[in-house]
Amino acid sequence: MKALVYHGPEQKAWEEMPDPGIIQATDAIVQVDTTTICGTDLHILKGDVPAVTDGRILGHEGVGTVMEVGSAVNGIQAGDRVIISCVSSCGSCSYCQQQLPSHCLADEGVSGVGWILGHLIDGTQAEYVRVPFADTSLHKVPDNVDNEAAQMLSDILPTGFEIGIRNGRVKPGDVVAVVGAGPVGLSAIMTAKLYGPSRVITIDLDANRRKQALGFGATDEVDNSQDDWKEQVLAMTDGLGVDTAIEAVGIPATFDMCTELVRPGGTVANVGVHGSPVELQIQDLWIKDIAITTGLVSASTTPMLLKLVAQGQLTPGKFVTHRFKLDEMMDAYDIFGRAAETEAMKVAISRPS
Ligand code: NAD
Ligand code: ZN
Repeated sequence: MKALVYHGPEQKAWEEMPDPGIIQATDAIVQVDTTTICGTDLHILKGDVPAVTDGRILGHEGVGTVMEVGSAVNGIQAGDRVIISCVSSCGSCSYCQQQLPSHCLADEGVSGVGWILGHLIDGTQAEYVRVPFADTSLHKVPDNVDNEAAQMLSDILPTGFEIGIRNGRVKPGDVVAVVGAGPVGLSAIMTAKLYGPSRVITIDLDANRRKQALGFGATDEVDNSQDDWKEQVLAMTDGLGVDTAIEAVGIPATFDMCTELVRPGGTVANVGVHGSPVELQIQDLWIKDIAITTGLVSASTTPMLLKLVAQGQLTPGKFVTHRFKLDEMMDAYDIFGRAAETEAMKVAISRPS
């Protein structure tokens, strides 16, 4: 088969690899119908994720057709069209039982982290992929949900919802600020309405991204290259600050912004992946009764989100801005890697039908 293979920082190739086969009785082999690229894949290619080694097939999102299942797989069978979760989880260890499958303890040869696809084992940017723990890591897709919409449930939509909105304790009537309007920030904006906030403020430096956010459910926009960004947000919240500030960039400056915007009693929900420390202004924050939450997506809400997509309540297909065939993978990386120029949000890379 052909696959997108990582060969060290800045090195990748669409090349011939052996077809995957069943290793464990709980595995499934899936033919990839549609896959995509994540900002995390770009981090890997910069060399920021040293656990990814030379020869690894990248990708942790996608929809495919099950070709074969191991003898212990009960709920999934050959022919099923499935969402491949970015988190592979056994469903039975103590963390899985506490609804924290992202910390699944099962020994896949690489225990200790639920995100293993395209990280510690070969991933979805390929013609075929081996998915461990198929019963708990694949989700059957209803006929009326297309592949492009479905694959947003592998990672980004559950990430924005679980780590942004749910950890951020959003309640009816709340004012929510989302700093960063990339796919993850927009996923938080799209799913915020499930908890009925009165205002959702998108904050980003990029005018195109803010414009997109208004189409995903944001009610207000703030350009934080303006000196008065904080005053603008305070003016929208009776001078008090927001109930929930969601950090969806992953740099110290935007984390600090969230701690400045949150009102007493509110929540800062950090979603961004950080590579350097932040200086917590605890001398100002100790008195504010705030909560700061962090998290790695569990994707345990994928089945719930899928019901809403099937009913037309959420329309994540609109993340897709560019379409490619699988053998155009290198072009897809080029377009996605220059998102500020190309205005790419999510790319859909599909098997020729
Ligand atoms: P992205 O890079 O596509 O989008 C980031 C957005 O932030 C862009 O729109 C950019 O214009 C904006 N931005 C950059 N600097 C800014 C600044 N100083 N002020 C305001 N806006 C700024 O990223 P994404 O794919 O949407 O992911 C967002 C973050 O979430 C990343 O850090 C990613 O690694 C992380 N992530 C976390 C999890 C998790 O489980 N916690 C899962 C997936 C992704
Ligand atoms: Zn991802």
